[in-house]
Amino acid sequence: MDKNEFIKEVTELSQKIGVSFKEIQIRTMKNKWGSCSHSGRVTFNSKLLDETEEKQKYVIVHELLHLKYGEHNKLFNSLLKAYLSEDLPTLQ
Ligand SMILES: [Zn+2]
Repeated sequence: MDKNEFIKEVTELSQKIGVSFKEIQIRTMKNKWGSCSHSGRVTFNSKLLDETEEKQKYVIVHELLHLKYGEHNKLFNSLLKAYLSEDLPTLQ
């Protein structure tokens, strides 16, 4: 997957989840697959571009959910699970 395809995927998933990010960054990261900031910037490890779609989706949904939910609580984990299943529900 190239950078543009990846960004497209992130954008589509953000619409499904109902969150919006201000900026997206893909760069080398030492210890993480991704991160997000309070200002609405999501950052992904460029190594992720070479990973499986499954892994990519996991990291993308995880970071996007952080735009709405700060911590890994019960709600966060069940939403993550729901969005990673094939039939993505649409949240309004
Ligand atoms: Zn997290």
